Amino acid sequence: MARQHLRSLVYSFRGILQNKLTCRIPNAHSYGGRFATRNIATIALEQSGTKTILSENDIPRQWYNIIPDLPSYPPPPLHPQTLQPLQPQDLAPLFPAAIIDQETSLERYIDIPTEVLEVYQLWRPTPLFRARRLEKFLGTPARIYYKYEGGSPAGSHKPNTAVPQAWYNAQEGVRRLTTETGAGQWGSALAFASSLFNLKCEVWQVRASFDQKPHRKSMMEAWGAKVHPSPSSLTAAGRAILEKDENSPGSLGIAISEAVEAALADPDARYALGSVLNHVLLHQTVIGEECIKQMALLGETPDIIVGCTGGGSNFAGLAFPFIREKMAGKINPIIRAVEPTACPSLTKGIYAYDFGDTAKLTPLVKMHTLGHQFIPDPIHAGGLRYHGMAPLVSHIYNFGLMEALAIPQTECFKGALQFACTEGIIPAPEPTHAIAAAIREALHCKETGETKVILTALCGHGHFDLLAYDKFLAGQVEDLEFSKEKLSEAMLQIPTI
Ligand SMILES: *Cc1c(COP(=O)(O)O)cnc(C)c1O
Repeated sequence: MARQHLRSLVYSFRGILQNKLTCRIPNAHSYGGRFATRNIATIALEQSGTKTILSENDIPRQWYNIIPDLPSYPPPPLHPQTLQPLQPQDLAPLFPAAIIDQETSLERYIDIPTEVLEVYQLWRPTPLFRARRLEKFLGTPARIYYKYEGGSPAGSHKPNTAVPQAWYNAQEGVRRLTTETGAGQWGSALAFASSLFNLKCEVWQVRASFDQKPHRKSMMEAWGAKVHPSPSSLTAAGRAILEKDENSPGSLGIAISEAVEAALADPDARYALGSVLNHVLLHQTVIGEECIKQMALLGETPDIIVGCTGGGSNFAGLAFPFIREKMAGKINPIIRAVEPTACPSLTKGIYAYDFGDTAKLTPLVKMHTLGHQFIPDPIHAGGLRYHGMAPLVSHIYNFGLMEALAIPQTECFKGALQFACTEGIIPAPEPTHAIAAAIREALHCKETGETKVILTALCGHGHFDLLAYDKFLAGQVEDLEFSKEKLSEAMLQIPTI
């Protein structure tokens, strides 16, 4: 009896030792292909290689600007009144000079300031997970990987750009930042970043989510920000909407108008945007740069990269560095953006110059758009509600360097629950679109027997979006289509240039 006990102790000790061995990540220099990690200890622990973690030294020191690598430059933004190409100084009332430089930069790589890197160290590098349990559940021969950005203080990828934006503003003597937020992710990221650099932060939150997500507001307030529901009576843009409809659920387009108007009215204030613009996409490339290192450590090459797109920033952050490798002929993955059928800017929108906001205060940019007066259906639970797509993503889409797909929201939530019950993390509603697309692809591999490598970004957790899950579990989430009538309405709103 005693001897048996001793033996099992020895075995479990050996097990612990072996676990330790297999959990060690091979370093970059010893990397020699996928089979390099399959040493003898792997046999003892089949789940080895569940996550790949880099060291703080591996945080990228530069952001990647894809523009100089493209076959042509994206069409220039236009001044909202003169319709002439925008001059950098036109943006000065809205953004600090460093951000304007980045918006128009033709440098391939831009140094990340040391102070920003020090904040990134709070949550970066982020882990790359292999979704082994999801693969098993689906019975797919495909290998699914997800880069998890939900471990940041705000719970999403948004602080990757909120931190440098706040820092550059503080450097240039700005005292107050204004912004909009939809689901509350961006507002909380900017509130967090502002608190680090002693900036005041004021957020206009889309009314529908202001009412549905009180805890995002609490979070912003905990970081010292002021939060207003939008439309509000504080701005002319807000009052104009309220006059027409005092119960307006709001939209990102309206909230942007309010935040821009407030910034323009105060010389000490500037505006910050959480997606869509070139500099935001630039800052997010830390995701893809880290991921390239992690895939190399694993000896994996992605066959398909899927990401959800609202304004396009988390997708671009993951995909652009891989598109660079693709354009250089080193890899050839399919790159696919996934959006909701309720707000299908890439798959159904028009590629045209349009305003970024409802009150037409922002410059005109050429993008895939559903029209700047688009108001999403308040019963749409899945996030990703902006009327436009990043001009840079739209431009790249037009070259055929990537594809796009729209998925209805019940399929997204179904996939999200499969993911949560196998991988554990409850995703934000936005990345459920990417998860649903990854599942579609994995099930396709099950039919064909292909062992494809699927890579996606899990860009945020859903801890503040549980109402959407409640609704889905209660059977109250409906699939919404963007109708032909809505599209013709949108066409009428788009200015003729
Ligand atoms: C804001 C947000 C999105 C949509 O914005 P993108 O710029 O398209 O990334 C998607 N997922 C999460 C978690 C977000 O917070």
